[in-house]
Amino acid sequence: MNPIENKRTATELKSKMSAIQKMVPGNASLNHEVAIPEFGPTDLLLKPLYSGICTTDLHVLYHGMGREEFPLTMGHEVSAVVVGVGEQVDSYVGTNRKIKVGDRVTVEPLFPCGKCDPCLKGRINLCPDMSHLGIFDEGAYADYVSVPSHRTHRLPEGVSDLAGTFIEPLSCAINFIDRSQLKPGNSVVILGGGSIGQMTVQVALASGAGQVILSEPVAKKRELALKLGAHAVIDPINENLVERVKELTDGIGASIVIECVGVPATVSQMLNLVKRGGRCVLAGAPVKPVEMNFLPLWYGEVELVAAHATAWQFPRAMKLIENGLVDVEAALERVVPFSEGVNALEEAYKSNEIGKLVIQHNG
Ligand SMILES: [Zn+2]
Ligand SMILES: [Zn+2]
Repeated sequence: MNPIENKRTATELKSKMSAIQKMVPGNASLNHEVAIPEFGPTDLLLKPLYSGICTTDLHVLYHGMGREEFPLTMGHEVSAVVVGVGEQVDSYVGTNRKIKVGDRVTVEPLFPCGKCDPCLKGRINLCPDMSHLGIFDEGAYADYVSVPSHRTHRLPEGVSDLAGTFIEPLSCAINFIDRSQLKPGNSVVILGGGSIGQMTVQVALASGAGQVILSEPVAKKRELALKLGAHAVIDPINENLVERVKELTDGIGASIVIECVGVPATVSQMLNLVKRGGRCVLAGAPVKPVEMNFLPLWYGEVELVAAHATAWQFPRAMKLIENGLVDVEAALERVVPFSEGVNALEEAYKSNEIGKLVIQHNG
């Protein structure tokens, strides 16, 4: 790609764009006079096609992550088309093929510093100095977004524009399963049937789980999990969760418990559902302090680990989608136009009945 041509691509763009921005905590608005982001020599300028709304976005909007600046353009689950290529961009993660204008891509939204102890050990999702698309850096709910080229992946033919927005959450679900050290035949209890919980059900099945049990209070989410292949579902409001799990696991508890909600009521249950010698994964963000009885952890030598975001799982997520092993769109509630994105964020925050909402950008 001729760098001069690249520069022209950028300057031919309008000077202003529309973006959904967090203005103050709890308040987002669709602004039309936002400057188009600059892109440096190793960056790509992208035109987003679809952007997912996830719990993290709601957390960013309503509670904040501590060090963001306002106004902040939100959004980090994105499929996009490349419209500008920095002069020094020659390759990208996972392939040696050059990226070019017109390629469809998705973005690994976590931008690690590359210099700290966890980064140097390859554990980039633990970087204390990370930046993050749509959280600390300008995000994808916009007509254009600039990203470091090495954090992008070209979408395979078999992954649609819409499915491309699910690669990031699916990668998180794969990380949950990686952290669980699931072995073929293991029994797995998943707490929470939101879209990430439904993906975790599917990844557990694709990884050879012998029994997958989902606990979820919303009936339609339980039904969806059964449709996706879960072996049993539990309504934790009207059934005794601990007794039901014991019944379903020959009285000993599950090999693995994965908590995908992050609220004290579910986090504190994990140790009552896992068998002695089993493993619990805290995958939901525990934003409030949790009181727990650790006695079962101690006498059962239970391993309790956490799973935070994603690192290195994107290529595997794309393969699972491409080869039909996971149906990422199963938990999709509906696609909303960009002009209604602000309302969609509010709707997602207010109702835990609805599934995933995805924003469609303007053509
Ligand atoms: Zn997300
Ligand atoms: Zn780092």
